[in-house]
Amino acid sequence: VAESPSSDLIEVFSAIQGEGPIVGRRQIFLRFGHCDVVCRYCDTPLCHVELPECRLERRAGGREFERQANPMSLAAIETSLERLAADLPHHSVSLTGGEPLLHAEMIRALGPCLKSLGLLGYLETNGHLVDELLRALPALDIVGMDIKLESATGFPARFDDNRRFLAACVDAGLDVFAKVVLDAATSIDEIDGALAVVLDTAAQVPVVFQPVTPFRGVGTPPEPEQLLAWNERALRAGAEALVIPQTHKMIGQK
Ligand code: SF4
Repeated sequence: VAESPSSDLIEVFSAIQGEGPIVGRRQIFLRFGHCDVVCRYCDTPLCHVELPECRLERRAGGREFERQANPMSLAAIETSLERLAADLPHHSVSLTGGEPLLHAEMIRALGPCLKSLGLLGYLETNGHLVDELLRALPALDIVGMDIKLESATGFPARFDDNRRFLAACVDAGLDVFAKVVLDAATSIDEIDGALAVVLDTAAQVPVVFQPVTPFRGVGTPPEPEQLLAWNERALRAGAEALVIPQTHKMIGQK
């Protein structure tokens, strides 16, 4: 008998999706702990520290939390999802982090719960961990895959991993989009590299350019002219190109 998985969580709460093509949808956010990279602009410092406990919202959007010890069992996570789902209709569950695919077994195990609640599984990932994606597939419907650029993150891009990851998403029939966080220091070569990942693999996949939101003074958003020029480059290359900033931060949502 397989052991039931357990996971370190940061938090479970209800909020408005602020990024990407389904911006504005109400979601339950299941924020997993830990990450396999360190992006300079990361706004989730808790994903890089020990997590003795997590916080679980008591009522959808109420911003009152109870604390529970990590690691959390499958049953405990299901209970926290069921509580928020019973409170309010949600569009989907955002499986986010940290890097949620470090918890692929847990995500896979959550599949039946998401289905029984009638909620789509929406994965937000750095797009590196292909084997883990394949494990998690039964719980997934929508995938937001980052293509990370060195000018924004501070570490080298992993375009080959991104290509394999995107191909696996497309093969599995997932509704996938690519998200590229852009900084004023981003170069045209990086833009072209990110576009090639998508255009060589599955040209119909939307590519969302997201200007970096400075966090604790780190990150410099591109100038309006840079965004227009990069968007033009994407369109001329044949990409399904969108530009969407992080809207939740504009409206004071986390
Ligand atoms: S991948 Fe996401 S969670 Fe991990 S360091 Fe980068 S921004 Fe933070």
